[in-house]
Amino acid sequence: MVTNSCDGCGRTVSVAGGMENIWTFGEDDGSEGTAMTLELADGTSHLLCYPCLEALPEEPTADDIARLEQVDAETSTLEV
Ligand SMILES: [Zn+2]
Repeated sequence: MVTNSCDGCGRTVSVAGGMENIWTFGEDDGSEGTAMTLELADGTSHLLCYPCLEALPEEPTADDIARLEQVDAETSTLEV
């Protein structure tokens, strides 16, 4: 397990099983990964927590990621 911080909101996240692209569903109690690496259309990749992933639109841009902010322990949103 790798501990890191979300590129969007900056909260501490963990990635289960390796550096990237491994996302465990159904075990959302914090003992498994709480983030995944999202690759954008422009080829950059960003480590994002689940709440940020949910806040992002369908085809996020680096701009969207820059606007992400943490609301509380379980929620993120896009700054307007
Ligand atoms: Zn986040």
